[in-house]
Amino acid sequence: MEVLFFEPVYKDYIWGGTKLKEYFGKATTTDITAESWEISTNTDGVSKIKGKNITLKELFDNKETREEIFGTKTKDMEKFPLLIKFIDANSNLSVQVHPDDKYAKEYEADTGKTEMWYIIDCMPNSQIICGMKENVKQEEVEDIIRNNKIKENLNYVDIKKGDSIYIPSGTIHAILGGALICEIQQNSNLTYRVYDWDRVGNDGKPRTLHIDKAIDVINVNANPKVEHEKQEECYRIADSEFFKVDKVNIENEYKDKSCKESFYAINIVEGMGTIEYQNNICNLKRGDSIIIPAYLGEYTIRGKIELLKSYVD
Ligand code: ZN
Repeated sequence: MEVLFFEPVYKDYIWGGTKLKEYFGKATTTDITAESWEISTNTDGVSKIKGKNITLKELFDNKETREEIFGTKTKDMEKFPLLIKFIDANSNLSVQVHPDDKYAKEYEADTGKTEMWYIIDCMPNSQIICGMKENVKQEEVEDIIRNNKIKENLNYVDIKKGDSIYIPSGTIHAILGGALICEIQQNSNLTYRVYDWDRVGNDGKPRTLHIDKAIDVINVNANPKVEHEKQEECYRIADSEFFKVDKVNIENEYKDKSCKESFYAINIVEGMGTIEYQNNICNLKRGDSIIIPAYLGEYTIRGKIELLKSYVD
């Protein structure tokens, strides 16, 4: 049983930058890179297992080894439950919303998308958009969107390095320029774009908006809050039916054991060191993503390292 390392898939969306290359040393091939899909089986970008001629999707779809690698909880899942990305927002992402499971199943034959963001780094005075202004009522949403009053009705929130934000499906939101983010989400790429800052895409045309569907799914009562960083060795930053995420701050050494029910997806967000298990030792550095198989057993991470540990429950 081995720890899995990955070869990510890169996306060069118009709002991307150069931090994935500069900050994480990612081998991107385009001038700007917006996203690195680190741990993904999604049809829009499947990550490969490093050193093996196999994708994460192929590995997950192999029923014979699924339980020992991904855990008992994934036994009956139709697809790998998570999609984990690094996102470099050099400029604003579109203002968008994602459907919940019920809507996605009915209209898109897919799963919904609840996501969370961990702010790895950001410019001073950075903000995100999260929900609508508090006084906006559900019945006003359609008028606000159809009559171009969206910008003045959005809720802007200050962020700083180490913050995390849980974004339930139905929450209107946008990552704004200046933030480097780790996004942990349900394995779905369903995005309804509401507003795109009056700009054009790579082909010179405005990118498609999805106004009707967005109006269907926006929930003004979903008003998530930013959670600030804590100086604790391990604390929960997301706790939902879709995923759990712990932030782990390691000073020297972290001893842990895999969990039979679920794999652990680990994303290194700061520092460098090693991971040791059985008779293996592998280097770890900022920007690396790994999976600890469910039946791996004990493992030790050494170094001054900050990481996110995601799993299903
Ligand atoms: Zn989103």
